[in-house]
Amino acid sequence: CSFLKEKSRKEVLEVLCQGLARQEYRGYDSAGLGIDGDKTGEVMFFKEVGKVAGLRKQIASSAVDMNKTCVSQVSIAHTRWATHGPPSTSNCHPLRSDPTAEFLVVHNGIVTNNNALRLVLQKRGYTFESDTDTEAVAKLIKYVYDNQADKKNLTFTDLVKTVLKELEGSFAFVFKSKHFPNEVVTARRGSPLLIGVKTDKKLKVDFVDVEFAGQDNKDVKIDSLQPGSPTALLAPPSINPKDGLPQPIEFFVASDAAAVVEHTKRVLYLEDDDIAHIADGELHIHRLRRKDDNAQSPGQIAST
Ligand code: GLU
Repeated sequence: CSFLKEKSRKEVLEVLCQGLARQEYRGYDSAGLGIDGDKTGEVMFFKEVGKVAGLRKQIASSAVDMNKTCVSQVSIAHTRWATHGPPSTSNCHPLRSDPTAEFLVVHNGIVTNNNALRLVLQKRGYTFESDTDTEAVAKLIKYVYDNQADKKNLTFTDLVKTVLKELEGSFAFVFKSKHFPNEVVTARRGSPLLIGVKTDKKLKVDFVDVEFAGQDNKDVKIDSLQPGSPTALLAPPSINPKDGLPQPIEFFVASDAAAVVEHTKRVLYLEDDDIAHIADGELHIHRLRRKDDNAQSPGQIAST
């Protein structure tokens, strides 16, 4: 996610492909990404079975205008290690909630209650287009959104929180949505996830491996972080003293630091049940609940 700095599709695709390539050593069978299409809210997908080099080839041979500026500031990419469904383009991530891609998600890990979720969602009219467990999550978030009476006061973070409470298994997710343009929500449980922050702002805190003392259900602004205090991190756009304009800031969400080190050395490792929300050049960390709390609410979707 890049704030206050317009980037061409070419630049964005390069950052994404490079990030994927740097994580190749982890092993994968296919790769995919989603960037902005020509109209606001429209998403353009590139998906390829095999190596990132193949994905790059597909991009290079596409007729898409690569010099066009991306409409939104958020783009996502993924290399897949298939657990549910064979390596195929339809199983490549990002997975979408529906043909207009209201919600997009990339996922590392396994959603173990996938079958139950799928059944419930199918009963409610959702048609699946992949074999993945991940698609159930893309559909579930749309389901939760569609069934919210008060959409005006609904935050992207709350939406993801509700979805996570229904999930069993392990995951690192990144969500993007046309309902929340220029926002990203990312969350983990059992799979690694980190956020790199690139800014000229002098941050109070050393971002590398900040320790989370943990406060339940507390939204934490990183700005207030002091070493040793509960949780960490805010990086609001700082003002350039020369021209009085806000400085650009970029966030890189990845499962491995190798994907972000060439952009920044400021890396925050998320812990289990952390939900990070990035918007307007700010990063906020929310903790769903403590791991040992053992009070996760029952899966209402799955049980009805
Ligand atoms: N379980 C998901 C799938 O099969 C994600 C696998 C992964 O890349 O970790 O698509």
